[in-house]
Amino acid sequence: MKEVYQRSIDILQKSEKLALTYSDKGYFLAFSGGKDSQCLYHIAKLAGVRFEAHYSHTGIDHPELVRFIRRNYPDVISDYPEMTFWQLVRKKRMLPTKLMRYCCEILKETKGAGTVTLTGVRRAESVKRSKRNTYEVTRHLFSSDSENDFEEWRKEQSTKNTNQDQFAEQSESVVRCINGKDKIIINPIIDWSDEDVWDFLNNVVKVEHCELYDKGWHRLGCLFCPMASIRELRRMEAEYPKYKDAYLRIIERLRNDRIAQGKPDYWTDMSAEEVFQWWCSKEKLAKWKAENKQQLYLDFEPH
Ligand code: SF4
Repeated sequence: MKEVYQRSIDILQKSEKLALTYSDKGYFLAFSGGKDSQCLYHIAKLAGVRFEAHYSHTGIDHPELVRFIRRNYPDVISDYPEMTFWQLVRKKRMLPTKLMRYCCEILKETKGAGTVTLTGVRRAESVKRSKRNTYEVTRHLFSSDSENDFEEWRKEQSTKNTNQDQFAEQSESVVRCINGKDKIIINPIIDWSDEDVWDFLNNVVKVEHCELYDKGWHRLGCLFCPMASIRELRRMEAEYPKYKDAYLRIIERLRNDRIAQGKPDYWTDMSAEEVFQWWCSKEKLAKWKAENKQQLYLDFEPH
């Protein structure tokens, strides 16, 4: 077995005791159905650790992905949000954007609070992820690749949580380093390359992957995710027209909500379709209008 796989197994086995102090179900494994979370799921199985895998539905999931998970991973627990994606958009009064990615924060990232959560984050995925570490705690409370540093931090926090009572039982069952909405995150496959991922799925555990990869999709997140590239958004528009219609409807609702509240309608001279096109372009509204709307008026000017 490759060294990089063995390291992941070691990480999982060493931290299992800690995970069990937070939940008798063990690790909370965040499963997305994508290739990385498949690797995470299967390496956790190989490590023989206790875990419960969860998939967070958002309501705008790729239907093929949901079918793949149901068929191939029936033991993965489906978590449904308290508020649908569309209800959340209305509450936030705006469509999510790359910089205001509130939907992930609320619909996905809150899951697993108070547990030791496993994710399939890999440094090779992006520049942003290249700065991530093996051991992390939410709200940037801790981040490091060193297991020893993590242990030190945990002990320090646990002492604080017992109100400096040096005579308190220093047992993992009573002394905890995180509370409330925080969670310890462990990224066991952080150092895997793309090649490691495909080698592991195809040659080590020999499992199927979601058909969307074979159709040229690279990110299997939600449909019309603001993190998708413009090219991907255009492809979604062509291939998932029902979801586009849902976006057009929410745009109308957002507009009507603003009018009902007596607030200015930023999209006053735009149809829902135009707002959608602007949103997919990822451009500033004024720039998009200057390039598209005014151009349109010019085209209709009498000669
Ligand atoms: S994957 Fe994209 S659309 Fe889905 S919840 Fe996260 S940011 Fe929002």
